Amino acid sequence: MQIKVTKKIVILRPKAEESKNRSFASLRMTWFLILLVTGNWFLVTASETESSMNKVTKSDAEWKKELTPEQYHVMREKGTEPAFTGKYCQFHGEGVYKCAACGAVLFDSKTKFDSGTGWPSFWAPMSPASVALEKDDSFFMERTETHCPVCGAHLGHVFDDGPQPTGKRYCINSASLKFEEKNKP
Ligand SMILES: [Zn+2]
Repeated sequence: MQIKVTKKIVILRPKAEESKNRSFASLRMTWFLILLVTGNWFLVTASETESSMNKVTKSDAEWKKELTPEQYHVMREKGTEPAFTGKYCQFHGEGVYKCAACGAVLFDSKTKFDSGTGWPSFWAPMSPASVALEKDDSFFMERTETHCPVCGAHLGHVFDDGPQPTGKRYCINSASLKFEEKNKP
């Protein structure tokens, strides 16, 4: 009798463990599949967002024709307008700031603040995707360059010394911006 019981235990235990392991394995597989599916979904959504944003691609000659020499220098050659000379430096209109080259909406006047630097300053773009960022190592400085996500125009730089709620300071050339007043009802 005693031997039979022992046998039973010996036989039953591996079975129970096995089924436990199996259910864990299938649970892990399910999660893996869910992650795989959602991961692909995110990839698809990201690429759709990227492609739905119609990029504007023009040759240097075309940009030269369309932009003023100052705009061309700032937006296509990554130049910087002299401080306190830009038309939007001391400007306080209510509306949106668009890319001067392609018209993409970049900033809302609600996020504009007086930084005292001599360039229009914003503490946030219109949306996280409204302004593209790129590391800039020129002039022996480590800075983050901002550019238009649609046409690639250089806008300025972003620094970490801005006011709350973001603590960011988007230091933008007036030459890269085109203000559009808010429609009054
Ligand atoms: Zn643009």
